[in-house]
Amino acid sequence: MSQHIIDMKEKLNFVQPSYRKGKLKSAFAGNLKGIKPYDNGALCSPEIEYKVAKSAFDKYLRTLAIQKSTHTVSNISTSDKKILEKPLIHSRQLKVERNSNRHRIIHFLSGKTAEVSPDMIEFIDAFRHVTKPISLLKDYHISNILQIIQKLQRNYILIPATRDEELEYLNQNISVSLKERYETENFICLCSPKNRKPAKKLAQMSQNLYSTKLKEKFKPLRQKMIVYVADKRDELTQFWFNSFCPPWISCFVALRRVLVIDHNQIRYENWESLRFKAGMAHEIVHMLLSNHNICLPLWLEEGVCEYFSRPDPNRKLLNLIKKKELLTYKELETKAIHTLLDIDNSITDDNICYHQAHSFVRYLCSAIGEPAFIGWIDSIGINSETSEKFYEMFGKKLDEMEQAWFSQLISLID
Ligand SMILES: [Zn+2]
Repeated sequence: MSQHIIDMKEKLNFVQPSYRKGKLKSAFAGNLKGIKPYDNGALCSPEIEYKVAKSAFDKYLRTLAIQKSTHTVSNISTSDKKILEKPLIHSRQLKVERNSNRHRIIHFLSGKTAEVSPDMIEFIDAFRHVTKPISLLKDYHISNILQIIQKLQRNYILIPATRDEELEYLNQNISVSLKERYETENFICLCSPKNRKPAKKLAQMSQNLYSTKLKEKFKPLRQKMIVYVADKRDELTQFWFNSFCPPWISCFVALRRVLVIDHNQIRYENWESLRFKAGMAHEIVHMLLSNHNICLPLWLEEGVCEYFSRPDPNRKLLNLIKKKELLTYKELETKAIHTLLDIDNSITDDNICYHQAHSFVRYLCSAIGEPAFIGWIDSIGINSETSEKFYEMFGKKLDEMEQAWFSQLISLID
């Protein structure tokens, strides 16, 4: 893929809500200084406390009102306003790379790369869900917002909410025209006529798994999930990130939205086996995460997929740690580049990385509650640091939680 570096390093001059920038403190300061008893270090009576609080709060409201009026959209022409009113979302094909002071954003499908400022990443992250650019003018003062929006659209970083990037890519780059299309409520299945029957059954089974087990956990889907049945091994491996796809891999999620599956698996698999259903549920969770533009480190994403698809892994994990090294989540983050197989390339059943990630996710869900856990991962977009968000939300450090998980795991040894 060719790489085009575009320059997106300009500062956007964000005007953030006052409470985020410490402006609340400065709005209060002038009032507080003017009150004599405060200067003496003692508030003499409830009346004076009330006066101090009221005058400071009034000033704060005035500050907010001034700030809002400064950033109205009255100076934008009608045609520009139309562009800014169009609902957009950021592509799910983005990845942010941070190297000391440099930040790059990469669009997987086009291979385009952009040097971006931290401000720009925050701005793009504001489009995690369908958003009209005009609505952001309340919080951001961006004099050239129109040009920036257009530049981000030209580079596929922001796309119209109605656009289907992954289907377009399949149509342009893979011979999807030779495939039949079968749809359920939440799935599009692409298969060749000879695999029609098992493919339809697969789509219905996937729909059933999603409807009964996963639909309630995550918000409604924005776009249908795609199941692509590959007729030949070559057809499957063209979706793998490099030229060597381990022979035991018979299905995986590509392009964050497409479950690519080997036709042999759907023709000869025991559909009712727990193993097959768990494997399918695992892949569906990958697609659900990307549907919500949730961007997790590899260990956490795999741990989440395992947690929602398989039973407690601790017994198996305790066996695995007798022969394989258990790494910290930070080590997993630095060592796994494309998949967790970069660290341990054994099949999922014997893979220590999948088991430990699953076990830690299970521990976190029991410690903070599953809804809070989902709330945490749901807050992680391209801009968010996983552990920082965790601390912000729960007041606990993720590595301390990891130590507590490990102690509990070890205590299970007979
Ligand atoms: Zn996976």
